[in-house]
Amino acid sequence: MANENITDYDYRFVDSDTGLQGAISELKLKIAEGNTLLAVDCEGNSLSREGALTIITVATEEKVYIFDVQKLGQATFSSGLGAILEDESRKKLMFDCRQDSDALWHQFKVKLSGVLDVQLLEVIYRRENPSASTTNTANTAQSSSNNKRGGRRNRRSQRTDEIEKIYGFGRCVELYLQDEKLIKIKDKGKRLLEKDKELWTKRPLTDDLIQYCVVDTMAMFRLYNKMKNVNGGEQARLRVASDKYVDLYRGKTERSFDGYEKNAYLPLDIIPDKGTLDFPAANTVCTCCDRWFPHEEFSLTQLRNGEQKCRVCKEIKRLEDVQQNREDQWARDAQAALDYVCIPDGMSEYAWFCGHEPWEI
Ligand SMILES: [Zn+2]
Repeated sequence: MANENITDYDYRFVDSDTGLQGAISELKLKIAEGNTLLAVDCEGNSLSREGALTIITVATEEKVYIFDVQKLGQATFSSGLGAILEDESRKKLMFDCRQDSDALWHQFKVKLSGVLDVQLLEVIYRRENPSASTTNTANTAQSSSNNKRGGRRNRRSQRTDEIEKIYGFGRCVELYLQDEKLIKIKDKGKRLLEKDKELWTKRPLTDDLIQYCVVDTMAMFRLYNKMKNVNGGEQARLRVASDKYVDLYRGKTERSFDGYEKNAYLPLDIIPDKGTLDFPAANTVCTCCDRWFPHEEFSLTQLRNGEQKCRVCKEIKRLEDVQQNREDQWARDAQAALDYVCIPDGMSEYAWFCGHEPWEI
């Protein structure tokens, strides 16, 4: 257990039973003092109900607690931390809580509640401040059309311009915080994790990864503080949206782990329309993502054929088709090149294209 300053923030790494008791008492004291907003983030290998959850970071604005779940197991949560995570009145900032929530429930029976998801807050903020986050023309077009949100133009299935991208944590930090030091720490961690997917399961946890945990939670507070006053600071829609997000994967009987489940788009009917806190009645299932929507989410032809896709799934399918066509074209081009060239007798196609001399086959 260490207790020292890095990256300007105080942190505590917890990997023993006595350390755990001390950390939870300290955390409870801070909460009782009125510092109620927390930031939470889980790490692991292919984190979900199936992958390993090895680290959970819980932070107040002054101090970061990093719990070694791999070492402490269920005790991490029975210590009192589980109750904090399940307490709806104890607000927790998270960034894309879907996999964390799925892992916490299915592996540790901790039913996460009281989440304010900063990824969703960013979408709400972007709708109101389209110029704040536009880095290319596609986004500009998307954002300007989003301004028409709420104007009921035609059948819901045709309103494809309402589909929105969700941004990753790194992109949000770059767009909204412009803090070189944070970005550097995140990038370094990302590079290390790309090289070694098992890194979150290795001990001792390296300083780079500890800094990564600290930065993740601290940046969440800063992103939240930057965007929380959007729409006059109303929080109700974000709470409703986060409640839906928290249960999106967790509530599924079976996970598909495919592109329809996890992609770069905001699932439909997660954030209520401005001025509302609920969603239209859902009575028809999307055959790709298995989520329920109003009948008019789907075209009449799709419904007739019994292969209805929601607008997000339709877009995913379109992108998959584009990619498939591209690969087919590459294969055709490669075959055409093969047909065109005259490969010397006895030489393999591989040797020819790799530039070997015939005798090197
Ligand atoms: Zn769908």
